[in-house]
Amino acid sequence: MILNQDGPPHDDHRACQNVAVLGATGSIGTATIDVVRQLNQVDPENRWHISAASGHRNTQLLAELAGGLDQPPDRVILSNNVTNDDLGSDEARLRALGSRIEFGPEALVSAASDESVDVVVAAIVGRAGLESTLAAVEAGKRVALANKETLVVAGPVVSRACQQSGAELLPVDSEHSAIFQCIQAAASKPKKLILTASGGPFRNWTPEQMDEATLESALAHPTWQMGPKITIDSATMINKALEVIEAHWLFGIPAESIEVVVHPQSIIHSMVEFEDSSVIAQLSPPDMRLPIQYALTYPRRLPCPTPEFDRKQPWNLTLEPADTTRFPGLELGFEVAAAGGTAGAVLNAANEEAVGLFLAGKIRFTDIVKGCRDVLENHTHESNPPLNRLLELDRWARGELKKRFGFA
Ligand code: NAD
Ligand code: MG
Repeated sequence: MILNQDGPPHDDHRACQNVAVLGATGSIGTATIDVVRQLNQVDPENRWHISAASGHRNTQLLAELAGGLDQPPDRVILSNNVTNDDLGSDEARLRALGSRIEFGPEALVSAASDESVDVVVAAIVGRAGLESTLAAVEAGKRVALANKETLVVAGPVVSRACQQSGAELLPVDSEHSAIFQCIQAAASKPKKLILTASGGPFRNWTPEQMDEATLESALAHPTWQMGPKITIDSATMINKALEVIEAHWLFGIPAESIEVVVHPQSIIHSMVEFEDSSVIAQLSPPDMRLPIQYALTYPRRLPCPTPEFDRKQPWNLTLEPADTTRFPGLELGFEVAAAGGTAGAVLNAANEEAVGLFLAGKIRFTDIVKGCRDVLENHTHESNPPLNRLLELDRWARGELKKRFGFA
């Protein structure tokens, strides 16, 4: 179990919490900045300081975000190997803040393991977040983990690193935060994890309709505002497949003790069944600021910018079984969680490439899952790969996926 949920939280509490937000310009990153801004109002005993913030390409947004903070970050990172010359007028804006400007993926690793950093918010999308997330874990930080792909690719490696360093890996993903909160509330070991899924924009679509799905319809998520990659993952339900694998590694629960149910309102974020068959659920409006904040302040609960429920209106909370015939991508999560080893790295890489091709208008929506299954079935499974083998297979699976659609 890599979540140190049985032990006490870190007690090396400092009055100023330095937070490194890796992926600050994204959906989770900007929500984190909002949470930190509000924490400085409701938590006067502590100061929350965004000491490092990274963006990949959007230098303008990074400069805007950094400039809008009460205190500028000590360092801002442009992880896409740009240089000062590429920054244009944003360079002057960033320089005026007095922050150090750093470039390239190595700067992410350096910020994640910096001695002065207390909490690393891992909010980069995809496998690109792996090295910095792992560096934070190895440095024994509190890691608020949004970047689920790191666990999908390298669950056993992260798990071992966590045990060695004593890092606190706290989930930001709303389902896993819900499960964590349910386990805390029950103070008991879980028997089954029941992940909820919104069902995405195609919940009621036929396979024929999905075959013709446009990019615009796939990006129109009914309940969550998220970055494009996870939005497409939600439409295929591969997001839920990745979350099954994430839950397996985070909570040390076998695939056969994890279930998925569809809950279109996205209010019940997940449930846990205990030994006596009692089920505990966590509910809140669909707003990522709550799980982000809980990962930062755990075990404390503080006022959060998430709106309260309007309980004067009728509540309509429905649960329905997940349909793996229409959403075959979901099955991949259970298969990969059960197989372990190299399977996660291969599924993740194939999916990232396929989503990229779909976003570029080069393949059909239903090709995403078909391509993932083909690449997974073409790979020779290894049960105990080291990190460099996982990264090799990541590259191999990307090439295979592209070849399958004639883009190699
Ligand atoms: P996003 O696309 O909005 O933001 C991604 C961030 O990563 C940006 O800051 C971008 O600059 C950075 N980035 C992109 N490519 C990079 C690269 N190659 N190297 C370094 N940085 C790079 O994505 P998001 O929706 O915020 O999702 C971020 C992570 O959080 C994903 O792993 C996602 O699965 C997870 N997550 C998101 C949500 C959500 O509500 N958005 C919910 C649960 C989990
Ligand atoms: Mg989720």
